[in-house]
Amino acid sequence: MTERIVCQFSCGAASAVATKLALAKYGATHDVQIINAFIKEEHPDNRRFLADCERWFGRPITVLRDEKYGASVIEVFKRKQFIVSRKGAPCSTALKRTLLDAWKQPSDVMVLGFTAEEEDRLDDLRERNPDREVLAPLVEARLGKEDCRAMVQRAGIELPLMYRLGYDNANCPACVKGGEGYFRAIREDFPEWFEDLAAVQESIGPGANFLRYRSGPMKDQRFSLRELPQGKARRNEKIPACSFSCELAEQTYAA
Ligand code: SF4
Repeated sequence: MTERIVCQFSCGAASAVATKLALAKYGATHDVQIINAFIKEEHPDNRRFLADCERWFGRPITVLRDEKYGASVIEVFKRKQFIVSRKGAPCSTALKRTLLDAWKQPSDVMVLGFTAEEEDRLDDLRERNPDREVLAPLVEARLGKEDCRAMVQRAGIELPLMYRLGYDNANCPACVKGGEGYFRAIREDFPEWFEDLAAVQESIGPGANFLRYRSGPMKDQRFSLRELPQGKARRNEKIPACSFSCELAEQTYAA
């Protein structure tokens, strides 16, 4: 079977540059595939960014779309009756990882968008998965997140709206990997998405609470989105970008 180079395009700047570099290196010699998963709750501007990047790459992007849950994060939570677990968020597994597993071939070599700042995570991932060949062009080229954003802009492509609003990546606005400050920002900027997540959390019950008090008498106890106290919104809170291999990468720090 011919080895394919598979770029996982997440609608973020890092995965866009990682794809561009992989195409430059392997485009003439290998079958390079670019894949993406559509998510109902992502910001619609992500699709505009994807179309712009297709033109930049000079290649089409294969968009996979889950049918079991209607590609909806909220539907995953409702049907699974949980929002986060020690293994990570079920949405990225159900709407991304499962699709990738069904689509990929055993000999595929995956291109991941780890940036230079994330080299330790890449090392851990390789140590834990010695049989899995992965390429990380951004680490190899010593490119950080800011470099990637600048490179996308220099290519004449407007960054996804989430970045332009000050967020750290183009995850779903109400991404369950966010913390307190992040969700204060989402409550201000995207009240409907905040409300959708708060409603499903409430319907599941306290077990679905994922934010924790960081100090005070309730320190470490979980609380719901509806109980989120007023305070400073932090749009630039660092949360992991969501990719097909999220939970694979998360194994490197969740164990
Ligand atoms: S971006 Fe966040 S909410 Fe959206 S699928 Fe990924 S982990 Fe789930």
